Amino acid sequence: MSNPSLLILAGDGIGPEVMNEVKRIITWYGDKRDMPFDVTEDLVGGCAYDKHGTPLHDDTMAKAQEVDAVLLGAVGGPKYDDLDFSVKPERGLLRLRKEMDLFSNLRPAQCFDALADFSSLKRDIVAGLDIMIVRELTSGVYFGEPRGIHVEGNERVGVNTQRYTESEIARVARSAFELARRRNNKVCSMEKANVMESGVLWRQVVTEIHEKEYSDVQLSHMYADNGAMQLVRNPKQFDVIVTDNLFGDLLSDAAAMLTGSLGMLPSASLGLPMANGRPKALYEPVHGSAPDITGQGKANPIACILSFAMALRYSFDAGAEADRLEAAVEKVLADGARTADLLGPEGGSPISTTEMGDAILAA
Ligand code: ATP
Ligand code: MG
Repeated sequence: MSNPSLLILAGDGIGPEVMNEVKRIITWYGDKRDMPFDVTEDLVGGCAYDKHGTPLHDDTMAKAQEVDAVLLGAVGGPKYDDLDFSVKPERGLLRLRKEMDLFSNLRPAQCFDALADFSSLKRDIVAGLDIMIVRELTSGVYFGEPRGIHVEGNERVGVNTQRYTESEIARVARSAFELARRRNNKVCSMEKANVMESGVLWRQVVTEIHEKEYSDVQLSHMYADNGAMQLVRNPKQFDVIVTDNLFGDLLSDAAAMLTGSLGMLPSASLGLPMANGRPKALYEPVHGSAPDITGQGKANPIACILSFAMALRYSFDAGAEADRLEAAVEKVLADGARTADLLGPEGGSPISTTEMGDAILAA
């Protein structure tokens, strides 16, 4: 059998810096855990535009469709701010998501004990928090037609349409239930069925899929506004949350702030299973290209490293190895290792991107 394949698109800004640490960890897995990966590297974003005049070359797109998983760093930067919309770095990422049909966006909100004082909430509300928000990523109000701004009578009207088909709801619901079976068997579905037709259908379809295919999983429903409140009041009541594109956008950003720094947050975007049974998959840190700290060795590589841990778990069936990597991160944090973004107001001396990588490898 051939080795699992990975396409690495480090991108712009701090992308290559944080990805460098992940590449060392991937090499470590080959050397020390007998888990070799076939790694290909390519360009996305501004660096691809510089070379090819497009933020994502067709060859790169084709490669992304073939591999078991794509690992992405970050795209964009001030150098590209004035580019035409059609070739902006972010379009490279959007094309990947669209053509790979990555409809299920997984955003964990996990609070490492050593960083619990970093949260915008009190320590006891967030310490030990480990929840997962599953956001529908390819449909809903951001894509629905009709849309646009037109004139009615003597004023302008802005229109967007929230639209969900049954199959779009069903596939993201299944991905949430599958995830729940690998975690704690608990899903909370959020919509606003009280005021939105798409919400009524969302609740119906999630309930039907649950009854027919996943009755072993505990399912609850919540209006998304109440969900937002509960998320900051008592987030540990949740395990997996599944919701639509718009509510997921808001709820996952709110959940992110429960856990502290942007430099800590990984994500996965999953599509339908490929011929080998693995889902199409793209893993990336939540943070952007951070031009303000690029090239200074200050970037925290943990978000990117934890994104690779998600790849181990969801693409390569290596949950125990993902646990091992996450435990190493937890240990170095407990030992006091801090990149600059993880230093509180009381300060301290930060370590560099590479030193953080060293510490995690050693652990
Ligand atoms: P984008 O538009 O690509 O989402 P953004 O401007 O919203 O980018 P980031 O590029 O993520 O956001 O940067 C926001 C802030 O967080 C910056 O001050 C940046 O330096 C900091 N930051 C982001 N990622 C990291 C990281 N991995 N380590 C340290 N600081 C980070
Ligand atoms: Mg941003």
